[in-house]
Amino acid sequence: MTRLIFLGPPGAGKGTQAEVLANHWSIPHISTGEILRQAMKERSPLGVKAQSYVDRGELVPDQLVQDLVEERLNQPDTPSGWILDGFPRNVSQASFLDELLQKRVPDGVSVINLEVPDEVLISRLLGRGRKDDTEEVIRRRLEVYREQTAPLIDFYRERQQLKSVDGNQSLEKVTAEVQKLVDP
Ligand code: ADP
Repeated sequence: MTRLIFLGPPGAGKGTQAEVLANHWSIPHISTGEILRQAMKERSPLGVKAQSYVDRGELVPDQLVQDLVEERLNQPDTPSGWILDGFPRNVSQASFLDELLQKRVPDGVSVINLEVPDEVLISRLLGRGRKDDTEEVIRRRLEVYREQTAPLIDFYRERQQLKSVDGNQSLEKVTAEVQKLVDP
């Protein structure tokens, strides 16, 4: 049973690794960024509410993402395990997840922190060319990461759930290292 959270700055490769490993373990890959992008494309009520935040590189309000994560983790494909990518992104989301999981997950969750130097991140993000990947928005997303998401590294380290992986290596090498840490 694998329940995994990917931590790391934008551009660290969370989405790529989560996709590969979710396939490998046959468990769902839950990306809050993907769910929000889909909602924005469809202009659903969630998408309309999220749009201006995503466009500016700000975090979408906690309540919106927490509701969507709770709903997603209630789907019938989740009891076999899951990989969360892009959530939690601040301490209050992490506390919310804790409470949510205490209700249904007796054993723990692993947290993988992907470490990548800033200059590598920026060039990866600029190369990706997504709508929210302009230089100004990227800079803001990295700032938001440092201010709000990076504190989660200590949050999970103190609880001995954190494992760090050098994300500045080939895709395959990163996958192999995560795999070895999660099911040795
Ligand atoms: P990246 O990994 O490049 O930051 P994501 O696809 O994870 O990209 O997220 C894109 C955007 O979606 C974020 O910049 C943010 O606006 C919004 N978002 C995604 N997940 C969350 C979350 N857990 N809390 C708040 N906003 C989020």
